[in-house]
Amino acid sequence: MKIGLFGGSFDPVHLGHLLMAQAAREEVGLERIFFVPAAHSPFKPEGHPAEAEKRLLLLRLALAGDTGSEVDDVEIQRGGVSYTVDTIRSYAAKFPGAELFYLIGADNTAQLPKWRESTELAKLAEFLVIPRPGEPTAPLPAPFRGRVLKGFPLGVSSSEIRARVKAGLTIRHLVPGSVAEAIHNYRLYL
Ligand code: ATP
Repeated sequence: MKIGLFGGSFDPVHLGHLLMAQAAREEVGLERIFFVPAAHSPFKPEGHPAEAEKRLLLLRLALAGDTGSEVDDVEIQRGGVSYTVDTIRSYAAKFPGAELFYLIGADNTAQLPKWRESTELAKLAEFLVIPRPGEPTAPLPAPFRGRVLKGFPLGVSSSEIRARVKAGLTIRHLVPGSVAEAIHNYRLYL
């Protein structure tokens, strides 16, 4: 079985994220994709993400009815700083024999050697890199394995969504309608 893992802050989830998963499913034939929101990203130490329950709720709304995608709150339950290697290890134990793939945006590729236990990480999963407009798509640094996908390059980011909400601009067509409605109703990112 081919399993995709997709970690991120998802603060909030947006159409760029959803199209990354779609590209991975279509181009690599992933059977299941798990979206794994981080409790705290090691690379965003100054950030104060929206509370985990809200980020989870937005993800669940975004993925409602999408049978190939699931939300896993393992990193939120674990709490503290979220390290991908811990999460991938838990998947390797839970799905012995499965091929594990980890989705990342092109803006993250160069950072991979700085991720915790990078050598071990590179052994546990193949990395699927999705091009991101405005970011060079560099090849994966050794010893990481994987490939760059064609994807659906989309210049949307969570920070842009947060900035637009704060500025009173519409986020229609940048996030699913249900997510836009929940952001409005819970008065997030104001
Ligand atoms: P922020 O703007 O707050 O930094 P983000 O939009 O990058 O957030 P994250 O949840 O931090 O969203 O990203 C999770 C993963 O998805 C990262 O690997 C990131 O590179 C990737 N990603 C997010 N948006 C895109 C996009 N539009 N195209 C390609 N990759 C993306």
